[in-house]
Amino acid sequence: HVRELKSLRGARAETLDGTRIQLMANIELPEDLKLYQKTGGDGIGLYRTEFLYMNRPDFPDEDEQHERYQELLAAADGAPVTIRTLDLGADKRLRGSDRGPEDARNPALGLRGIRYSLSEPNTFLKQLRALLRASADAPLRIMLPLVTTAQEVLQAQQMVEVAKQTLDARGQDYDPAVPIGAMIEVPSAALTAHQIARHVDFLSIGTNDLIQYTLAIDRVDDHVNYLYDPVHPSVLKLISNTLQAGQRIGIPVSMCGEMAGDPQYTRLLLGLGLREFSMHPSTLLEVKRVITRTNLRDLKGRTRAFMQNTDPGRAPDLLRRLNANQG
Ligand code: PEP
Ligand code: MG
Repeated sequence: HVRELKSLRGARAETLDGTRIQLMANIELPEDLKLYQKTGGDGIGLYRTEFLYMNRPDFPDEDEQHERYQELLAAADGAPVTIRTLDLGADKRLRGSDRGPEDARNPALGLRGIRYSLSEPNTFLKQLRALLRASADAPLRIMLPLVTTAQEVLQAQQMVEVAKQTLDARGQDYDPAVPIGAMIEVPSAALTAHQIARHVDFLSIGTNDLIQYTLAIDRVDDHVNYLYDPVHPSVLKLISNTLQAGQRIGIPVSMCGEMAGDPQYTRLLLGLGLREFSMHPSTLLEVKRVITRTNLRDLKGRTRAFMQNTDPGRAPDLLRRLNANQG
């Protein structure tokens, strides 16, 4: 099995009936990047910038961020890189610091993700300028976390314009068409994904938070993790709605939550129409293995049965059927 996985390193992620699937890496720590370079893949689908801000007395300034982003783009070697703007709060805390939103009673429902960035315009603008400058030399996409309404996207787009004007005034280069995307990880955003999709260039489904908020289970509370269920019919409806919204508006939709890196869900997600997966590089070859043993044509009926089911108790059996006859 290990030898088989190794042999998949250079192989294309393609289904038996010839559909090419994009497999991207989630990067948080420097060692993740090293692993990605070994494993290979189609680029970086989620770079979590919190690491740059944590365990230090001050926020990184624009030049330091610019340098880090340039290094990342160089390591990706021309492949597309999606960098997420700061997603502080809740499970992503600045340990031992009074900067940030983590003292709230309900941090997961508080000032985190894009909410925090919009409330700290100077911090946000600094990051946007650093990202835009990095976009001058290599393909980069900017991704906004924890979007709840289309209004937040419009506000963030205005901030991008302000950042561009500053760079224009300084005479610094950037890609004027740098794609801006929204993470879909709040049920309200998944239910109104068609509206959010009109204002962005791409969507990415964050199942870790989407599951947390849909099923009302704190993702870091062990007492309730028995309820954590990626294939709960309510979660699947939200995922499917988001994929359909992207198709209708004509923008790509990826998935970067942990569900995308779990091979037991690969066929289901392919059946729902997902074509771009982003995951920790340690799971990339396992997922590629499933893809290369799957016929998309065979998934149609079985995916439909899954989506018609409203009983969470039947999901394991339906999943077994979907994954049967897999080499
Ligand atoms: C997610 O919520 O699924 C996600 C990818 O973001 P994070 O795990 O960093 O919150
Ligand atoms: Mg998230």
